[in-house]
Amino acid sequence: MSKLSRLNKDRTVDGILVQLPLPKHIAEKTIIQAIAPGKDVDGFHPVNAGALFTGQPCLKPCTPLGVMVMLEHHNTALRGAEAVVVGASNIVGKPLAMMLLQAGATVTLCNSKTQNLEEKTRRADILVAAVGRPGLISAEMVKPGAVVIDVGINRLESGQLVGDVDFDRVARVAKAITPVPGGVGPMTIAMLLQNTLDAAESLAPSST
Ligand code: NAD
Repeated sequence: MSKLSRLNKDRTVDGILVQLPLPKHIAEKTIIQAIAPGKDVDGFHPVNAGALFTGQPCLKPCTPLGVMVMLEHHNTALRGAEAVVVGASNIVGKPLAMMLLQAGATVTLCNSKTQNLEEKTRRADILVAAVGRPGLISAEMVKPGAVVIDVGINRLESGQLVGDVDFDRVARVAKAITPVPGGVGPMTIAMLLQNTLDAAESLAPSST
């Protein structure tokens, strides 16, 4: 905590990222809340989360931000589109749902309790999988012509890295699909650098 306090006050430091998960004896919530919101380049502080929720300028979580930049870069129609996000964590699913909503999409946010997942995913013009379960999204669950974003990262016993989407089969029905590795991951890193730059230029709500 004293280290964070020093970094918060240090004018030569623009961004602070605490690598999660933390050891069990350290309360993640307390640590995240100890970061100055203006230096919170992960966008996890409740001040930034609240600002995102209410559509105010803020530092946004890097992974969902990377997904949005990718969609916008490829001129994906978002206004009026059906967007389905599978996975509702604070770091990916929830903020992404908020960003898609603010871009004009009609958003369905699914979690582990969701019934009839396939019925929801098949509605999606934009389908995002962010669960951490290999093969969760099969070709039958995808509407032909959908844009499919795979956030999941899973290491198989063979050592192979895969996402949550059955890439080979889904690629045959989707209009566009992101690979794992090499899709959302590098975008996350790029957004971290973008957030750091924004924090340095004080685009964030407050620097302390
Ligand atoms: P998490 O464990 O915090 O959340 C998982 C979410 O999935 C929860 O909301 C849970 O309710 C939901 N879920 C679980 N089983 C489900 C099911 N069968 N159907 C629907 N929803 C279900 O995970 P997280 O931190 O959000 O990460 C999700 C995945 O994304 C992981 O594989 C993680 O490694 C990956 N990830 C990738 C990046 C990246 O940069 N590419 C960044 C963050 C996380």
